[in-house]
Amino acid sequence: MPDSHKFGTSTLVEAGGMRVLLDCGRGAVVRLGQIGVPVGSLDAICISHFHSDHYAALPDIVMTGAIPAAWGGRKKRLRLIAPEGAQQVVDGLWALTSADRDIRVADGEIDPDLHRIDTKVIAEGVVFDENGLRITAFEVDHGDFVKPAFGYRVEYGGHVFVHSHDTRYCDNLVRHAQGADVLVHEIAMAHPETLAAHPHVRTVIEHHIQPRDVARIFAQVRPKAAILTHVILRGPDAPSIDEMLDEVGQGYDGPLQVARDLMVIRFGASISIYSAETARG
Ligand SMILES: [Zn+2]
Ligand SMILES: [Zn+2]
Repeated sequence: MPDSHKFGTSTLVEAGGMRVLLDCGRGAVVRLGQIGVPVGSLDAICISHFHSDHYAALPDIVMTGAIPAAWGGRKKRLRLIAPEGAQQVVDGLWALTSADRDIRVADGEIDPDLHRIDTKVIAEGVVFDENGLRITAFEVDHGDFVKPAFGYRVEYGGHVFVHSHDTRYCDNLVRHAQGADVLVHEIAMAHPETLAAHPHVRTVIEHHIQPRDVARIFAQVRPKAAILTHVILRGPDAPSIDEMLDEVGQGYDGPLQVARDLMVIRFGASISIYSAETARG
């Protein structure tokens, strides 16, 4: 949904001198600007699946990142790590960005090669392993027409961060999330009456996971921090966040919070979670 407080899904991983985005939904470039990370400094982007809320910012990242400015400044090609279908997206991007590229190249502003993307089409397994930062893709279950869809496990210096991305209840996720310090999981909820009366709401909810099943996931993984994101609460008469948390609480009694835009998770001797906005004063 277009909401200035909730941009599309995107998680920046910074470790070992590398910067990798997990998904790049709408507004990712603006959020990077807010935390002072130049768009051009991204080494790679891992995409979970090709629903628009997970990759809508890609053209913006490609074009804005190539501009030689403090907030752009790309020096080498961006790398895209994504499921089957990625090459078609990248070919389309090359066409989409051509009008901008022609002008900037004619003006001597950019090197056209900086609009090129090195694409890696992935299957389940390790998809990135550099400077001690290892990222593993694992298959999740986001419905019959979204195959494959991936969650990501990120490891660095003995710390483990796992992001479900979009999925229904998935045993493969539980397997790959073992030992996670932080597990970020999606969630969706609508009242039973709404599901019965509105088939289109049912279709949406059936691609996602409901609170009691999220609780089953968290209870099996037992992360130090469990975080809910990609929160879908569908109306009419949409459930509240508190109602959703109560439902999760029926099956999981560990620490739990709801993600917000610009939330920072810092891994050190302990894990601290705070807002980048507060941190900047
Ligand atoms: Zn999706
Ligand atoms: Zn989504």
